[in-house]
Amino acid sequence: MSNPHQPSPLSYVQPTANSPWGTYLSQVDRVVPYLGHLARWVETLKRPKRALIVDVPIELDNGDVAHFEGYRVQHNLSRGPGKGGVRFHPDVTLEEVMALSAWMTVKCAAVNLPYGGAKGGIRVDPKQLSHKELERMTRRYTSEIGIIIGPQRDIPAPDVNTNGQIMAWMMDTYSMNTGTTATGVVTGKPIHLGGSLGRIKATGRGVFVTGREAARRLGLDLNGARIAVQGFGNVGASAAELFAQAGGLIVAAQDHTGTIFNAHGFDMADLMAHVKASGGVGGFPGADVATLPIDHEAFWDVACDILIPAALEGQITAARAQRILARLVLEGANGPTVPAADDILADRGILVVPDVICNAGGVTVSYFEWVQDFSSFFWSEDEINLRLDKIMAGALKHIWDTADQHQITLRTATFAVACERILTAREERGLYP
Ligand code: NAD
Repeated sequence: MSNPHQPSPLSYVQPTANSPWGTYLSQVDRVVPYLGHLARWVETLKRPKRALIVDVPIELDNGDVAHFEGYRVQHNLSRGPGKGGVRFHPDVTLEEVMALSAWMTVKCAAVNLPYGGAKGGIRVDPKQLSHKELERMTRRYTSEIGIIIGPQRDIPAPDVNTNGQIMAWMMDTYSMNTGTTATGVVTGKPIHLGGSLGRIKATGRGVFVTGREAARRLGLDLNGARIAVQGFGNVGASAAELFAQAGGLIVAAQDHTGTIFNAHGFDMADLMAHVKASGGVGGFPGADVATLPIDHEAFWDVACDILIPAALEGQITAARAQRILARLVLEGANGPTVPAADDILADRGILVVPDVICNAGGVTVSYFEWVQDFSSFFWSEDEINLRLDKIMAGALKHIWDTADQHQITLRTATFAVACERILTAREERGLYP
């Protein structure tokens, strides 16, 4: 007979070992031995507090009506309002949004921001929509999730295929619906709508700061270091630019348009101009004859010192982990490494700076933006970058000390630091009623 006190598994997702929620659950299981008495609360982390699924109907330019499936998941609100991006992608599922929201809970606690974790998304290929259709879809989605978001409740931000324009529409829609000018309802806004200087490149900057600190500990000189980047969007391109400025050579880049390679490193100004003009790295002519397109899979065999996955989840599979030649992996993307691959990389002595600290620069400057919106007092870009550097380097040091103390990976150490904060808040608040 089943134990009536045993928590029942969630009925609305069927995670597998390598799926995003399955990956997250396995990461939580690994931290339990380090939670002490707080382990009694760990089930809290295995269930989202709230998951909203919405229908998003819009009229297309040709008069047809299209329906899209949208989500907003608030994984945990113990330490503050929900915080997390909104993704527009044809592969978005409830399970993926759940995992991304849970990683936000861990990430915000890892850098000690006063937020819980949330995430949203729409199952759509936004590249198939006109500008006006995209606006209508964004506004309808914002109205539908409007019942659970707000500056003190849950604050969305950009993620894959969303940007400052989408945030501006979200802010305007929420403001119209509530009869306010609610700048603090989203972050990643354009500057003149209460956006923060430094926000666009903040996630890439955080990847750079944690990478710089990790490289220092490994004795790896950034000047001349060979770097391969998967995903050349907001996160990947910003991180690549900063590493190039520090003397690094960007030797390989891959995005949805193709994969390019140059053993001598790309000219970053030329590459950025090409990406801006054509929408991706594919077809980059480069200046060097050694610049060759390499096929999708060969990206994982590139000789490099630092590998930056900055695209989507589940990219570093067990098979790819056996082949990676880098000394250091910086997880710009959320959930790029499946658990079995994590073990292989650790066995091979390849250091992984995990997503939950590596890409926390974006949410950190989002926090600065939210604070600036509340106080209506805006900081200089230098001030923001300095504060970001200090917070990220300090958080990584604390995590590294925890990893050394227990002889665990940086991922489990980040979860240990974060989960202690989350579950202490859970315990102190107590269960209602
Ligand atoms: P983006 O839309 O700006 O860029 C995504 C990039 O991934 C593009 O270059 C795209 O071509 C590439 N890509 C998509 N599918 C691919 C595939 N199958 N193979 C190779 N490349 C592919 O998105 P972003 O904001 O840079 O987000 C990238 C990752 O970083 C995501 O995992 C996101 O959750 C994470 N992240 C983003 C932020 C942020 O502030 N934007 C913060 C933290 C984490």
